[in-house]
Amino acid sequence: MKKTIVPFLVRLWLLPFVTVVAPLCRAQSPPTDKDIDATVWNETRLTERRQNFNIEIFLESRDARSIVQDNAYWVGRVHLYKGVHHVAEFPSSLARLSLPLMSRIVPAGFVAMVFPDLAGPDLDFYDWKYGGEQISGGVRCWVFDLRPKEATAYGAFVGRILVAEADQMIVRFEGTFTSNPKKHSPYLHFISVRAKSGFDGQWVPSNVYISEKDLARPINGSSELRARVMTWGFQQQALTEQAVAELHVEGPIQRRVDPFTAVRDPHEFDRAVEQMMVEWMTAQGLLARPGQTEAGLKGVVAGLVKKNNSSCSEIQVRVLLTTPLEGFTIGCTVVISKEMLNVASDDAVASLLLAPMLAHILLNHPNKPVYADMLQADADEVLKKLSFAGTAEDIQEDDRKGLELLVNSQSQGNLARMGSFLRSAAEYCRRMPALFLQPRLGNAIPACDGRGPIMKLIPLAPRRIEGVPAFSLGSRLILDPVTDIVQLLYPSQDQEPFQLTALDLNPRQFVDTPSPDPILPPDPLARRRAVSPIKW
Ligand SMILES: [Zn+2]
Repeated sequence: MKKTIVPFLVRLWLLPFVTVVAPLCRAQSPPTDKDIDATVWNETRLTERRQNFNIEIFLESRDARSIVQDNAYWVGRVHLYKGVHHVAEFPSSLARLSLPLMSRIVPAGFVAMVFPDLAGPDLDFYDWKYGGEQISGGVRCWVFDLRPKEATAYGAFVGRILVAEADQMIVRFEGTFTSNPKKHSPYLHFISVRAKSGFDGQWVPSNVYISEKDLARPINGSSELRARVMTWGFQQQALTEQAVAELHVEGPIQRRVDPFTAVRDPHEFDRAVEQMMVEWMTAQGLLARPGQTEAGLKGVVAGLVKKNNSSCSEIQVRVLLTTPLEGFTIGCTVVISKEMLNVASDDAVASLLLAPMLAHILLNHPNKPVYADMLQADADEVLKKLSFAGTAEDIQEDDRKGLELLVNSQSQGNLARMGSFLRSAAEYCRRMPALFLQPRLGNAIPACDGRGPIMKLIPLAPRRIEGVPAFSLGSRLILDPVTDIVQLLYPSQDQEPFQLTALDLNPRQFVDTPSPDPILPPDPLARRRAVSPIKW
């Protein structure tokens, strides 16, 4: 019987919406000082228990007509320490700065927006003025206006805070930091939202959105700045370095790479080391843990790969949790960045973006060698050397074969959609170098150099198209900051291709659905849970 083919992206949109609506009609009494103390205590506990996490910052500067002039990107890992305000350390190869916009930005200043006050927003230093109740993202919240007391030093939070009544935890705050009124404030206005993980039901920082329309000191003539800060990888605290080390000394992976074991499959050794690399990148919070999104992408792969003569019996797809549009392969695993998936406006565009990597696998092109001992160094050292980018010649061949895969598997209408996407990308890429031109680990999408066989799709695109050629950044892909599982939502109608738009700024409650077909045989998360349960 013929299977009904429901496009992958449409199927994901039909997933039950993750927000759970709380009962709305209970009569509540106003919060007491005891409730505020409990909230402050929970906030302090959060900063103590979640000291290490990944962070990325994406910025756009805009001109007077709100047209993007430049953008910048920065990613790293934060380590908060007791007694010190905070310390941030970042793997240098991933944190390459994009000048000149980034030269004006202090990343640590964005880290500060993840918490209202790392010293604790307690009643000794802040006035908490109760402002009623509000339902936000389905969560019943107390609203407070916070103002530092007069004796509190500059740099304290001032603004509005939402506290989930049921959990007595801050789930959203909006405002800025105080500064000397006689000088220009060095601080931006921001909205910081949190997410309740599907793993342990705890609220953790998720997104910060900044939209500053009138900068006191314009950057290169741009007085408008938009920025998004994302945080994730909070589970990595449980996955201590020792746990990461355990990945390599016990379990089936170690047995498979033992050189003294008889190897029957000629590719088995390579596959095992590649699997180890995928697992290491997952443990670092660089790759999403596989869930329904990755399972759906395998359907897109199946639509393109009609005949597989490669050494890979099965091709997996994983999502790189960074923003620049890029893709690469690790052995039989295709990796695409989260925003590359997010901007893909339909299955045809998703196929277009996956095709060069699939071609690389089908052509049996060699990969950059990966060695098991590489992963025994410190994460920063590993990341400095890590690259999966192809040579210009390799990229050209992948492109040619990718076009062949697309033409053989898609209707003329779908090819025109792909052409529209490429044409739109080519229009934006010069103004958005951090998104299009600076891949960190792999290959950029082929639109910016205007060459390459896949660009033959552009003339197929009609001048006027229905819908948008590409979605906005962050418009529908959501990420559980604790489990690192991504989900795709139904996108809003209001889309500005490849640009930051106002995100959903409500707190979000996740219900994660792990992949039905797990890709990591010994899931480090599950194994760690079995060894040492996280207690709250
Ligand atoms: Zn190749």
